Amino acid sequence: MLEVYSSFKVCSSLEVECKAFMTPRKILVTGASRGLGRAIALELGRHGHTVAVHYGRSLHEAESVAAEIISSGGQAVLVQGDLSTLEGAKAVGAAAIAALGGLEVLVNNAGITKDGLAMRMSDDAWDAVIDTNLGAPFALTRAALRGMVSAKWGRIVNVSSIVGLMGNAGQANYISAKAGLIGLTKAIAKEYAGKNITCNAVAPGFIESDMTEALSDAVKTKYLEGIPAGRFGSPGDVAALVAFLIGDGAAYINGQTIAVDGGMYSH
Ligand code: NAP
Repeated sequence: MLEVYSSFKVCSSLEVECKAFMTPRKILVTGASRGLGRAIALELGRHGHTVAVHYGRSLHEAESVAAEIISSGGQAVLVQGDLSTLEGAKAVGAAAIAALGGLEVLVNNAGITKDGLAMRMSDDAWDAVIDTNLGAPFALTRAALRGMVSAKWGRIVNVSSIVGLMGNAGQANYISAKAGLIGLTKAIAKEYAGKNITCNAVAPGFIESDMTEALSDAVKTKYLEGIPAGRFGSPGDVAALVAFLIGDGAAYINGQTIAVDGGMYSH
């Protein structure tokens, strides 16, 4: 299902001046209905880009993200689709390209957890997390690359996780997927750097969202003890880094994984 929202707004002279420095881009943010993806989509919309706000089930939330982007002076389209299979991801890529009229920036953000100790983890929990967190970004990257290679310009940002670097008990599936995503980032960076395409990963630490809200107070307290900043991150902390990575100032940064974790893990 695809719905398109767009609008124009008279900006203040200051806004027009700021946006004049930035080329408006056609951007897909997966999992933009909630949490980190929502904040990333809003931040990029605020910079005047056109954002395909992808969602799986949360139509109402995605609609309010699109509306907020439009009211801040950006443009938005809604793209719905399930990312738990390669076929689903390919369909989302095709729908976004059709809705945007091309794709210049891909932010692979959507992800899930299905935690459990390795010995007790079901095959389904393994497959679901690997397919959604690693398979879908791979399929979307391939869909995006065709146009980026022709245009000789593109930006891909993969939302990995600090646990993909440091490891964590009870998340063998999630960590394998997030570490794999870092590997995918490095491979794509090497393959397409010559086409003026960069591919970088962000590795959030503990960020306040529905995903982390589901954890028990005891687990949250334990994480907080290990964060030198003394606080959990906000989705906006991650969105600011993504906005930087797709901008001109980051043109020579490629294949990197940048942590946003309040100093939790140095690698
Ligand atoms: P969240 O609040 O649970 O939101 C997840 C988003 O992904 C939602 O928009 C959801 O869409 C979408 N999604 C999940 N499965 C999907 C599927 N099969 N098909 C389509 N869409 C799907 O998660 P979050 O905390 O914002 O996390 C976002 C990303 O950051 C994830 O990759 C996560 O691993 C990573 N991360 C988060 C943290 C953290 O502390 N929160 C730390 C490190 C990394 P619908 O609701 O519309 O279905």
